[in-house]
Amino acid sequence: MRLGIFGGTFNPIHYGHLKAAEEVRKKCGLEKILFVPSGNPPLKSQNLVEAKLRYEMTAIAVSSNSHFEVSDIETARSGKSYTVDTVSRLMRLYPKDELFLILGIDAFLDLPLWRHPDKILSSINIIVITRPGLDISDINKSPYLLEAMAHRVKRQEHFELKLKNGGAAELISVTPYAISSTLIRKRIKENKAIRDFVPLKIAAYIKQNNLYQ
Ligand code: ATP
Repeated sequence: MRLGIFGGTFNPIHYGHLKAAEEVRKKCGLEKILFVPSGNPPLKSQNLVEAKLRYEMTAIAVSSNSHFEVSDIETARSGKSYTVDTVSRLMRLYPKDELFLILGIDAFLDLPLWRHPDKILSSINIIVITRPGLDISDINKSPYLLEAMAHRVKRQEHFELKLKNGGAAELISVTPYAISSTLIRKRIKENKAIRDFVPLKIAAYIKQNNLYQ
C-alpha cells in the first residue's frame, strides 16, 4: 500500500490540513493518509494544548474520511518527538508498505533545524505540498535541492525535485486554503467564529474543553 504520513502539531487540526491531505492523496495515488499528531515538539511549544486532546481532535476530524487514519505513535509517549525516530518506527510498523512523508513547503524549509534531516531524506519518500503564504518557488530556498533544478521550479503543478543526496522528492501544488492553527487560536482569543476553518465537531470540542482561551 502507498501510505502517506502527515505529521503536525494539529493545534488544532483544520480544513487546510484536511483538504490538502485529501488532494495530495488523490494526486499521488496514496491509499491512506496517516495523521500523526506530535507529542512534545521540540520546535513548537507556544499555546500547545495537551497531546491527548490534540490526538482526540485529530481522530474526530479524520473519522469522516475512510482513507484517513490517526496514529498515537508520538502522543502516546512522553518526551520529545523527533520525526526521524517516528519515521523509523513507522517503517518497522508498516514493513510491506511504501511510505511517503508529506510536508508543507514551510516544514520542508525548516528541515535543516530538525534532528538528522539527512537521515529523514534518505530513508523515506518525500512529498512537499504548497501552502498559502509561501510561493511554490520558495522551495528554491531549501539547501537540499540540487541547484541545477532549483531555477526550474516555477508554475508547475507536480514537480520532481532532485535532491543533493542523489534522491528525489515530489512537489505538489494543492488548492490554497489560507488557514493556519495560529489564525484559529487568535480568532478564539478574540471571540471570533471559527466555523469556516474547522469541522463543526472540532469547533464543538474546542468549546467544550475551553481550549485556546
Ligand atoms: P501553526 O499555525 O500552529 O504553526 P499550522 O497551521 O502550520 O500550525 P501544523 O500542525 O504545524 O499546522 O502543520 C502540519 C503540516 O500541515 C505542515 O506540514 C504544514 O506545512 C501543513 N499545513 C498546515 N496548514 C496548511 C494549509 N493551510 N495548507 C497546506 N498545508 C498546510
